[in-house]
Formats: sequence, C-alpha cells, structure tokens
Amino acid sequence: MDDTLTSLPELGQMARVCRRLSALGWSEATGGNLSFRLGAERDVGPAPTSATPTELPVEVPHLAGRHLLVTGSGTRARDIAADPAAGVGLYRISDDARSYTWLAGNDRPTSELPSHLAIHDTLELVRPTHTAIVHTHPARLIALTHLPELRDARTLSDTLLSMQSEARLHLPEGIGYQGFHPPGSLEMGLDSAVHLRRRPVLLWHMHGALATGAGPDGALDLLEVVDKAADVYWTLRSAGVVPSGLDEVDLRASLSRYGKLDRYLDAFPHPPGHGEPTPPTTTHNHRKDHQ
Ligand SMILES: [Zn+2]
Repeated sequence: MDDTLTSLPELGQMARVCRRLSALGWSEATGGNLSFRLGAERDVGPAPTSATPTELPVEVPHLAGRHLLVTGSGTRARDIAADPAAGVGLYRISDDARSYTWLAGNDRPTSELPSHLAIHDTLELVRPTHTAIVHTHPARLIALTHLPELRDARTLSDTLLSMQSEARLHLPEGIGYQGFHPPGSLEMGLDSAVHLRRRPVLLWHMHGALATGAGPDGALDLLEVVDKAADVYWTLRSAGVVPSGLDEVDLRASLSRYGKLDRYLDAFPHPPGHGEPTPPTTTHNHRKDHQ
C-alpha cells in the first residue's frame, strides 16, 4: 500500500506546493495543512486488515467511498516537501460516509480533518473541479484582518482586488471573510464550508487564509494572487497613501473582455450592510451523538 501512495502523482503535487509554502514563509513551524480529494474513479486497493474505521463528527454524503490525501498533525511543510510519504496520509471514506479508514503513509491526520472533509463535501456539490484545499498563514493577509474596516467580504474584495488589474479576473466572486473561531475547531471548518460555497478564498480572522482549487497548485495560485494584491495595498499604506484602486469602469471593462462581468455583478446580491447570504447547511449538521 505504501508503494501505491508513493506512486500517486497527487502526492508529488502536494510536496511541490509544500516546498513553495515553506519558501514563502507562509507555513511557520507546523502551521497550515493541505488535503487533496482523489477522483471518484480512483481505486487504490483494499485497506490494511489492521485498519480500524474512525467515526466522523460531520455528515459528508458526497464523499462516500472517496479517497483523500491529508497532511499529518504536527508536520512541517518543509519536511513534507522532502519526504511526502512520511507527512501525508491516504484515507478512504466508508461507503456509508459515516467513518474514514487510514490506508497508507502518515496515520495521524491534522486535527482539522473533519473540517477539510466538510469543505470537500461542499466542493463536490458546488465546484467539483476544485479538488484541493490549502490552508496557510500569509502575514500580509493576516494583517488585513486587523483592520476593522475590511472585516466584511464585499469591502475586503472590492478594496483588495482593485489593487492590480488581473486580480478580479482570477476571483470575480471576491474573497470571503470569517470571524474568529478557536484554531482547529470543528465550528471553524463548518463555517468555512458555508463561506466557500460562493468564494474560493477565505480569510480567517487573526489566523490565516484558506483556498480551494483545481489541485493544490490551483489553490496556491489564488492565494498568490490575493497576497500580491495585499502586497500592493500595504506598500501604499506604508507610504502614507490611501489606495483608491482600479477605476470601476476599467475593472468592468476587464471583466467584460473575459466574460466574467456577470459573475462579478452577482457576487454580492444583497445591498451593502446586509451581510453575507447564508446558504443552507443541511449536509453539514453535526451528528446528534456529537452535539
Ligand atoms: Zn492555521
């Protein structure tokens, strides 16, 4: 089974992204975690006979029978880059989606595994091409959450994504903002799954960022776009300039050229001050025996 793990191309992609996260200084110590949902058609063989299922505290009906790669608890990004099979575990969700079983590699998953699974379950519904989740701690993005005026998805998106003319083309729906939850809590993951239904990048208050993408490289691409915008924003603020950003006419012309204007106009359907729409969360109710 370990040979199966090391032969997975997805493992190499996770290692490459971990190397980049470490080089960027975004994953200090053991901060951050990644997961990668393998295709439904992927069969990696039976579980070891010694493997015992672990019951899940969340309902993930759209992940029944699926395999996932997940970084281990207490692992460093730089160590995963050097030896991915030691830092990443392969897991299978049971056919009734009520438990998971370790198959190979690291057998101590991140404490945020249930949160990742809740998000993957949502992605299967709303953005099935987004197969990966990357959570990390970019300092410039954490710093943004210290500004009370940016603690709102619409204001944050309009301010940040007007700092560079291509940023909104990558993220026409904008960036999400999530208030404080204790790190590693299941509530943080469940809340994130709701926010990520509409927008693939989410800032966590005083904590970091999480992105979904087509593989870990796709998620990292989006984080780099947002971080570049934040770099421009903080450079101007540090110089004493209040950035006005790209003119709205120019922004719309860019989006229109690439057929993304409708997505931008639909991103925030409610008037300013009326908060984020809250999609239904029926697939992510806690099990009664864990409440
Ligand atoms: Zn974190």
